Amino acid sequence: MTQSTLAEIGGVIRTHQRFVVLSHVRPDGDALGSQLALALSLQKLGKEVTVWNEDGLLEKYNFLPGGERLIRPASEPQDFDIAVALDTATQNRLGTAGESVRHVKAWINIDHHPSNPGYGDLVYIDPTSPATGQIIFELIRSEQLPMDLAIAENLFVAISTDTGSFQYPNTTSRTFEIGAELVRCGVDVGHVSQLLYENYPRRRAELLRELLGTMRFEAGGKVASFSLSLKVAAELGVKPEDNEGLIDHLRAIHGVIVAVFFEELIDGKVRVSMRSKSEDVDVSAICQKFGGGGHKLAAGARVRGTLAEVEQRLVQAICEVIDCSESMQPKG
Ligand code: AMP
Ligand code: MN
Ligand code: MN
Repeated sequence: MTQSTLAEIGGVIRTHQRFVVLSHVRPDGDALGSQLALALSLQKLGKEVTVWNEDGLLEKYNFLPGGERLIRPASEPQDFDIAVALDTATQNRLGTAGESVRHVKAWINIDHHPSNPGYGDLVYIDPTSPATGQIIFELIRSEQLPMDLAIAENLFVAISTDTGSFQYPNTTSRTFEIGAELVRCGVDVGHVSQLLYENYPRRRAELLRELLGTMRFEAGGKVASFSLSLKVAAELGVKPEDNEGLIDHLRAIHGVIVAVFFEELIDGKVRVSMRSKSEDVDVSAICQKFGGGGHKLAAGARVRGTLAEVEQRLVQAICEVIDCSESMQPKG
């Protein structure tokens, strides 16, 4: 795979007119924030911009500036000059948004997942970047693309969510420099953070209560997991976005190295979400064995089987990497 430079991507942006900006299914703050930040910047540059996500704009991200531009893809495929895939490790994770792009002159792939194979015509993958939003910031600055408060807020949300509020080890000095720049652009950290982290529906706390009821430990407390059945999800009226961040309650436990969240899906698969607290345990490698991917410390997969089957297979795969011989339960 040959990587492009930000200058090459900037050149393609300047010389084309009709853009579609996409990100992965079940989007997170980085996916949506990056999409809207780039779209708003392109729009300010005078481009025609369409912003598609299979799931549309999630309710919890309603406050994102320009959010009304983020829509579900058209049912009939459409043509554009340029399609941009953001934060999407494999092209099929664009879902129906990718399928609705018929003909383009070039695909641009901007991402920070090390497992991204580099699909597309212009590829910029920086696995050292904690968020795709950080790469979009660098693109805007180095190519002197438009920046304003609305764009800065979207970038702040992208970076804040993918770094766990500037906490995860992927947070670098550059991330704080960019954070400072975004605050200088007018981002109100307290206000945005409250909208992001202190504004959940009560349903999400009820979901957490159910999940904690299923909590299990293996390997002497090094592996913690919980699971969500379709039945419980239906009873509570769970929305996909309610899940984001709940796995952190497992990760936060003393002694836990790997945290896993199993979610039964309607298509006979189980969505697996995995987090590691140790550089020695690469959960992306574990998830790749099941057709998934992600980052060393945060990864996922969709695995065919019942909850019980997938739980058993995944725990076994984790135990091949960390020593699961101890059966001791963790002390409180
Ligand atoms: P999540 O647990 O859904 O927050 O995802 C954690 C990380 O793993 C993200 O960076 C995702 O892009 C990646 N990931 C999650 N699910 C999959 C999947 N099915 N295939 C590839 N990568 C995934
Ligand atoms: Mn993402
Ligand atoms: Mn990301």
